Amino acid sequence: MYAKILVEYNVKTLDKTFTYKVADKIKDTIKVGMKVKVPFGHTYINGFVLALSNQADEDITTFKEVTEIAKDNFVLNQELLDLGVYLKEKTLCSLISAYQTMLPPSLKIKNQKNNYDLTVSYIILNNNVDIEQYISENKRCVKQIAILRRLKEEKRVLKKEINCNGLQVLLSKNIVLEEKEKKYRLNYKDELKPDNKLTEEQEDVFKKIKASFHKEETFLLYGVTGSGKTEVYIHLIKEVIKMGKTALLLVPEISLSTQLVERFYQRFGSKVAIFHSALSEGEKYDEYQKITNGEVDIVVGTRSAIFTPLNNLGIIIIDEEHSENYKQENMPRYRTLDMALFRSKYNKIPLVLGSATPSLETMARAKKGIYTLLTLSKRVNNAVLPKITLVDSRQEMKKRNPIFSELLQTKINECLEKKEQVILLLNRRGHSPIVTCQNCGYTYKCPNCDISLTYHKSTNNLRCHYCGYTNLKSDVCPSCNEKALNYYGLGTEKLELEVAKEFPAARVVRMDVDTTSRKGAHEKIIKDFQNGKYDILLGTQMISKGLDFANVTLVGVINADLSLNMPDFKAREKTFSLLVQTAGRSGRSEKKGEVVIQSFNVDNEIFKYVVDSDYEGFYQFEMQNRHKLDYPPYYFLACVKIASKDYELASKQANKVYNYLKSKVDKRTILLGPSTANQFRINGIFRFQIVIKYKKDDNLMKALKDLDNMYVINKQVNLEIDTSPQSI
Ligand code: ADP
Ligand code: ZN
Repeated sequence: MYAKILVEYNVKTLDKTFTYKVADKIKDTIKVGMKVKVPFGHTYINGFVLALSNQADEDITTFKEVTEIAKDNFVLNQELLDLGVYLKEKTLCSLISAYQTMLPPSLKIKNQKNNYDLTVSYIILNNNVDIEQYISENKRCVKQIAILRRLKEEKRVLKKEINCNGLQVLLSKNIVLEEKEKKYRLNYKDELKPDNKLTEEQEDVFKKIKASFHKEETFLLYGVTGSGKTEVYIHLIKEVIKMGKTALLLVPEISLSTQLVERFYQRFGSKVAIFHSALSEGEKYDEYQKITNGEVDIVVGTRSAIFTPLNNLGIIIIDEEHSENYKQENMPRYRTLDMALFRSKYNKIPLVLGSATPSLETMARAKKGIYTLLTLSKRVNNAVLPKITLVDSRQEMKKRNPIFSELLQTKINECLEKKEQVILLLNRRGHSPIVTCQNCGYTYKCPNCDISLTYHKSTNNLRCHYCGYTNLKSDVCPSCNEKALNYYGLGTEKLELEVAKEFPAARVVRMDVDTTSRKGAHEKIIKDFQNGKYDILLGTQMISKGLDFANVTLVGVINADLSLNMPDFKAREKTFSLLVQTAGRSGRSEKKGEVVIQSFNVDNEIFKYVVDSDYEGFYQFEMQNRHKLDYPPYYFLACVKIASKDYELASKQANKVYNYLKSKVDKRTILLGPSTANQFRINGIFRFQIVIKYKKDDNLMKALKDLDNMYVINKQVNLEIDTSPQSI
């Protein structure tokens, strides 16, 4: 018997299988998809079995032998094996890196750690021993007797509670026995809650999706914030489980979805596994075990959970489908949607994309009939969408209200008086984004990235938000030595201080990357705010999604222009979505909500649509812009970045790449560039980019692949190919 093995070498030039002879002793156990150990060069490495056959199709007389199946009895099933091939084709990565991406760290074939299983020990009585007799014969062994009495009472006791010399004696004499039990790191025993009865609108949507349970069909569930999309997911999943199948629910970021995860535990108990990057390796291993052992019916997870080996999959749901987090920005640069479409097709099951602000691509596809459009137009419980007011920050500056406009001040005070809660959005962290010398004009910049450093007051240093470079803040200007440093701009850290000044009675909590880096910090802030420990929650876009607080009746956006001014074809779409989603946190139950948005660009057309929560209007407006400029959804995009520490070399190679592509791609394909990438220098590396816009181009993927191969061996210049860029 022969096996084709894909070895762990992560070098593109080795991206192929090698044939090994299968040793007799493992002939009966070896299976396609298994991890094995094979001799390679002068050493042994791990690999995956991709095929088994009785004849070798290579013309070699002596084959090396595969003699050992690696540690876990884990098998990549056929669906995942195929998905890996698709991932490779879509993103132009190597097959081995595709499989590496799909597995949790404990199962990556490089990983040497052998045992992640966690066990706990219990002590029980040995039933074959007459305990009373033993006690009467050992009256002076007080500790032993205490242990035996307790065991008679409780039957089974955790070993660590009674571990002492006495216990060791009992164990050595076989009077008591030790019992090991496998234990999972994450366990939930929330009390189960009953289902809500669906509203008429929800029921309608539910029935339409249910009618397609045995088909490959993609639905766009477009439902305004608070319209009960999550409740529909829960009902759908219950149906799927009734049929003996499993479900996959993807969310943009688990830490932003603590409330959703909690809701799932309340409705499905321990039948839920969760999966995201903030879990420890051990936790990931455990959750993966629950899945492969078939102990759970539902996986709730972030992007990478699309690769979990749920058997008998019955439905895939992507919540907040517009989120940027569904795109992986390092190799392999995949879109979760593509992977989900593959699995929906493979299993012949529905894929549901949910959002209050669908991405333009998704909505366009729904309008074309490629996806089925389902709408939830009303909030549940007769809650109405909040009233949104736009405030002109230029006018407020004249009135010397640089941070809180008159209206926002009044509204915050009213809200506080009524003992209701406020959410404030400012999409920039740190204290001040710019530090400049008033005397000589010097501005602190990152030496690696050419962008200005942000002042962080709590740590009293200056930080680069791209590469993490930090510099201690000095009192004098490093250029002219004058004591004339000035701090400009506003970040969340400063906003927190300003809120404390302006509303001294209010209890404030801040949520951004800096306050949530510790494990569990995020959950704590959300819980505390929910329990009324704070009056005002302020933060970056972290606070814009998923949160459902009944007592929040006011949302303030301090500076709505930050994301609007980004040089990106999706800047308007991202801003619209951010503002509508954030506004959606207000007035979600009986109390009516309000929103105040402050901007320096009130004339920008998108605010018209934001103020009316008019997604359809925005869609029509933005589609025209995309059409004029040949952007998605009218064209597909691809992007090649040419990166090097050497500016001249990068520039020269960028031109070469351009000319190569020009000679290969279809005549109707548009090539732009080479130009400097948006973040031109990061970490001392210069980046040029070529943007490719195409409708249908049979030559493009091959050209990109060949290009990639040409640069694999080039150590000075690196190519980053993205076949589905989400920003340009
Ligand atoms: P979305 O996911 O669209 O933002 P949710 O599913 O979170 O909306 O619903 C908003 C609120 O309404 C939640 O507090 C939820 O518990 C409640 N809710 C949703 N559907 C129902 C229903 N059919 N009956 C009662 N309450 C519901
Ligand atoms: Zn930097």
